[in-house]
Amino acid sequence: MKASIVLLPGDGIGPEVTSAAVAVLQKIASRFGHEFLFQDALIGGGAIDATGSALPDETLRAAEGSDAILLGAVGGPKWDNPTAAVRPEQGLLKIRKHFDLYANLRPVKAYPALAAHTPLRPELLEGVDILFVRELTGGMYFGERKEQGDDDFAYDTEYYSVTEVERVAHIAFRAAQGRRRKLTSVDKANVLAAMRLWRRTVVKVHEDYADVALDHVLVDACTMHLITRPASFDVVVASNMFGDILSDEASVLAGSLGMLPSASLGAGKIGLYEPVHGSAPDIAGQGKANPTGAILSAAMMLRYSLKLEAEAAAVERAVDAALASGARTADIAPRGGSYISTQEYQAAVLSAL
Ligand code: NAD
Repeated sequence: MKASIVLLPGDGIGPEVTSAAVAVLQKIASRFGHEFLFQDALIGGGAIDATGSALPDETLRAAEGSDAILLGAVGGPKWDNPTAAVRPEQGLLKIRKHFDLYANLRPVKAYPALAAHTPLRPELLEGVDILFVRELTGGMYFGERKEQGDDDFAYDTEYYSVTEVERVAHIAFRAAQGRRRKLTSVDKANVLAAMRLWRRTVVKVHEDYADVALDHVLVDACTMHLITRPASFDVVVASNMFGDILSDEASVLAGSLGMLPSASLGAGKIGLYEPVHGSAPDIAGQGKANPTGAILSAAMMLRYSLKLEAEAAAVERAVDAALASGARTADIAPRGGSYISTQEYQAAVLSAL
């Protein structure tokens, strides 16, 4: 197949990890007979420096004409001024909104070889393979709010419509169908009205997916279950705020932030794929970045945007094989042990491919 992919490497380690993901995609193209056309565009701090905007119009136009977007990371000390009118993360929020990317998929897998990097006992990590589906464009983060410096009160509103819950629930159920057919819906239906609407809507959508087992867990209980029995989860669907908190909690299970990929999907055909981590200015330009999150984000792109399941699985197997062969970047190396550079790690994944 022929596909056009827009690359938004961004700032800090963004370009380093994106370049590893591109090398993997190029290898996939030559091995499976595809043609991937890559186009670089600006986002984040670099875009502000060059154009004054965190998401220039040319970037949006390029993305609109593409099949998928692969992003590195944005931000850094140079632009870390919370009161500045233009900030790097505005580029991210704007692109998510522009393409109506309402579902954020974050897989979290525990790698036995990295068990020592987590605070959990190794036996608890056996078989951990969770897919978080977080609602990304609604809820408290986008609800009506009031905040004024001199007021003695402020509020935010948790607002959800049936349509908003339905569409993210469909994505979660369909994802579960391709996995172990189990969906956990997280809410706070015992206290919050919006969460009662969430639960009854998920129950209704379940009628279309009789082959998926559905359970409901209150968010407070879920935080405990993720630590005490993480292997019991398959797909987890949650609101914007609960999904944000729970997926960060679960990221600890993977051993390093550098291991985690994500996909943001929406109503249109364009998906946005990016590692979960930020621009890591403390290690930028030193060849220390772990590119796994970016490489696995490229695998998610192959699966969800390009419908190339065999190719996606081949990338995931290559990462497993590289790790099993002992390839370790600094963040996942044994304490005091030796480690390889981003490029050497990339080479290990390519050779496993
Ligand atoms: P961060 O994720 O950049 O870094 C947190 C820690 O994890 C650092 O010690 C870093 O070295 C390490 N780390 C992160 N990714 C790694 C990788 N691939 N390999 C090895 N180690 C890795 O978070 P932060 O330090 O809070 O933020 C730094 C900048 O990134 C800020 O400007 C922030 O706004 C931005 N940020 C961007 C995104 C994004 O682009 N999606 C997400 C989070 C933070």
